[in-house]
Amino acid sequence: MNIILMGPPGCGKGTQAQRLQEKYGMVHLSTGDMLRAAAAAGTETGLRAKAILDRGDLVPDDMVVGIIVERIEDAEIREKGFILDGFPRTVVQAEKLDDVLAEKRIEIHHIIEMRVDEAALFARIERRAQESAGARADDNAETLKKRIVVYREQTAPILPYYEKSGRLEAVDGMAGIDDVTTQLGSILEGGAGLQQAAD
Ligand code: AMP
Repeated sequence: MNIILMGPPGCGKGTQAQRLQEKYGMVHLSTGDMLRAAAAAGTETGLRAKAILDRGDLVPDDMVVGIIVERIEDAEIREKGFILDGFPRTVVQAEKLDDVLAEKRIEIHHIIEMRVDEAALFARIERRAQESAGARADDNAETLKKRIVVYREQTAPILPYYEKSGRLEAVDGMAGIDDVTTQLGSILEGGAGLQQAAD
């Protein structure tokens, strides 16, 4: 099964994607993790990306589209399925992804938005920044605020793009971690009673 998890920075996408990977066996593909790994390895792309990540801006679409296309074509990932976390992040990326998926005949089974209240999100990401002090250079409060604005301006417009074609589902990202995992599981297992994005 192939899924896309949408939601702003700090909403818990990474944690939930990890849990879904453990429970259902799909491969968790996080463009943020890939870019951080490339930066740590000191590759040319990684070093270019690092300055952008540290500012809280988005890297150029081409930089991430290439990485993702390579991964979703991988035979093992095609067999196990994938969870996209942090991609697509612009309408251009979403359109390119749709083109590639159509060309490769790869289906996305669920596109799920983790909905969160922005004020609570600010509180949560600032707490996370303090807890992981220094672990991620982009996790200071100022950069995080920037990332929320970038999400609002560049990533949130993808939601109506998916909604228009009736593909967007949603869970309450404000619920507890276990509850969110349960909600996601119900969607993946075809359960009813979940909030639809068009509510
Ligand atoms: P994340 O770990 O998903 O929060 O991503 C961390 C940072 O990596 C983001 O703030 C961006 O600078 C960069 N990044 C990750 N995914 C993308 C993407 N799909 N497009 C552009 N930049 C990205």
